Amino acid sequence: MPKRDIVIWPSKVLETPTRPVTEFGPQLEELIVDMHAAMKEADGIGIAANQVGVSLRLALVGRQDGTWFEIVNPQVLERSGKVELREGCLSVPDQFEQTPRFAKVKVRYQDRAGAWQELEAEGRLAHVLQHEIEHLDGTVFVTHLSPLKRGLFRERMKKYKSVK
Ligand SMILES: [Zn+2]
Repeated sequence: MPKRDIVIWPSKVLETPTRPVTEFGPQLEELIVDMHAAMKEADGIGIAANQVGVSLRLALVGRQDGTWFEIVNPQVLERSGKVELREGCLSVPDQFEQTPRFAKVKVRYQDRAGAWQELEAEGRLAHVLQHEIEHLDGTVFVTHLSPLKRGLFRERMKKYKSVK
């Protein structure tokens, strides 16, 4: 069993911008290991630290081939093209909806050692990057949906939480 449970929306920690990571070391490494365990258990392709209740600017991003990497203090430098993609979230289990995103993004982030990296991505990787970075800004994908749909998801999550 993973050490950390995934926070279910709606929740304050998911709707609060996370704090920048300033310490790189064993504690950060440990958090990454815990987040990976939670992501794997839930069969996810990405996870943000605030989804396990830790308000830090850190997320894991899964690649198409099943490997993954961490993004620390990420920023989106460029965005281009528009797409609508079917999107879901570990914090809103089993709910999927078409969500507007950019087709391509260029991001800058630190790795677990604190070194800055730059990455240009498109397709699914661009999608996951946008979803996770948005989590770190305190935004859940349901924000992009109609109030009606969001209300429906809210009701379903209330039921989900009550049976858990
Ligand atoms: Zn999510």
